Amino acid sequence: MTARRRNCDVLIVGGGPVGALLACLLARGGLDVALVERGARRGPAERSSDTRGYALAAGTVRLLDDVGYWPLLAPHAEAIREIHVSREGGFGSVVMDAASQGLPALGQVVPAVRIDAMLADALSETGVEWLTGTTLETLEAAGPERREVVVAGPDGRHRFAARLVVAADGTGSATRAAAGIEVQRRRYAADALVFDVRSVRPHRGRAFERFTPDGPLALLPQPGGLLNVVWVAPPEICDDRSLMTESERMAELQSRFGWRLGRLHAAGPVARFPLELVRARRLHDHRFVLAGNAAHGLHPVAGQGLNLSLRDVAVLAGALLSAPDPGAPGVLSAYAEARRGDIDRVAAVTDFLARGLLASQEFAPQMLRSGMLLLDRIDPLRRFWAEQAMGLQPLPRRMLRALPSRREETEGSSVATGSTTEDRA
Ligand SMILES: Cc1cc2nc3c(=O)[nH]c(=O)nc-3n(C[C@H](O)[C@H](O)[C@H](O)COP(=O)(O)OP(=O)(O)OC[C@H]3O[C@@H](n4cnc5c(N)ncnc54)[C@H](O)[C@@H]3O)c2cc1C
Repeated sequence: MTARRRNCDVLIVGGGPVGALLACLLARGGLDVALVERGARRGPAERSSDTRGYALAAGTVRLLDDVGYWPLLAPHAEAIREIHVSREGGFGSVVMDAASQGLPALGQVVPAVRIDAMLADALSETGVEWLTGTTLETLEAAGPERREVVVAGPDGRHRFAARLVVAADGTGSATRAAAGIEVQRRRYAADALVFDVRSVRPHRGRAFERFTPDGPLALLPQPGGLLNVVWVAPPEICDDRSLMTESERMAELQSRFGWRLGRLHAAGPVARFPLELVRARRLHDHRFVLAGNAAHGLHPVAGQGLNLSLRDVAVLAGALLSAPDPGAPGVLSAYAEARRGDIDRVAAVTDFLARGLLASQEFAPQMLRSGMLLLDRIDPLRRFWAEQAMGLQPLPRRMLRALPSRREETEGSSVATGSTTEDRA
């Protein structure tokens, strides 16, 4: 039985970092927003099972700062001062450092659970109707002005008539499928094992990207002397590593990574992520739009997925808040137009790196050698890597003017209140 029906401006399906941040920004900007999330309401950070540490580019940090959320994450962040790129079996490494770029840091690493917890707090301070344990049942056109959505949760069915529906439900987006938007999908022959370790020697803000014949291995510095390991390998090797005892796994990791941080000790549970490239064929439809992983799921080799996704959120929120009708076709096509180049570029380079690094065993050493040479010698690729790390991709400033700003805090109201007239002008 359908419990009730209500009108809203924007209905967002998916309460991951993209859906949750978008909901907060739109609600603060004065829109009537509902958010539907399949999972349970997030509890304290410690209870979450997401073991990832997110590398956030400097541009992403600036963006979060502009809208008032970075100060809430900063206590849980570790600055990346250097990135060391090396290959197993090779000598030396290519080093990118913040100082030579004239920056205090190349980016920041924040545990995913901290981002979840911050957004959960921020959401509960906004007027967003937040339904958890709830999934999409049907999505239909309801005339030129609205989309009708039925969702089902623990307290029955809810019917919404929304001026815009946003799919932010990740790479497997059921909402995207319900809208009939096709995807290009390629499963990489690799999974990632992700877990925290503690090193005997301090990481001193160094991030490590090591190319091994099985796949890339990244260690990202985290607060409290921890490092987040992202260990990519073919599924059968991940099976073996998952079945190992903790001490066997750490010995294997140590032999692959080496001793530059001294002995590594396990410091948390291991989670496994299948890796795939997913690209939606288009970003919008009638009163419907995609954002984040629902639009593009990437290999994590360059740590770009969330950075790219949060740029989607900023541009989409800016576009929706500056329009009288957030679902109008012109608003959605302006968003799609503004995002296409960035998404194409990051997806293409990430896929190139991922496929090169996952090439067959015989071919891999050659690819790795040429990859290292490329990084070392060919400026454009090196520049891309550094630019991505720093998040210097230009965003259309005019589309960001309507975003709620951090100034709200200094003007005496909470970050969770609506934007000022000046911000909306
Ligand atoms: C191993 C690994 C490491 C990574 N490291 C980095 C990094 O260092 N830096 C970086 O920038 N990016 C990184 N990424 C990418 C990053 O995880 C994604 O870009 C990010 O999660 C995208 O957020 P999202 O909200 O779009 O999707 P998701 O995080 O997938 O969230 C989707 C949400 O939708 C919900 N949902 C799904 N289906 C439904 C439904 N039918 N109804 C309702 N709700 C639904 C889910 O429960 C979930 O909460 C990494 C990815 C992986 C796999």
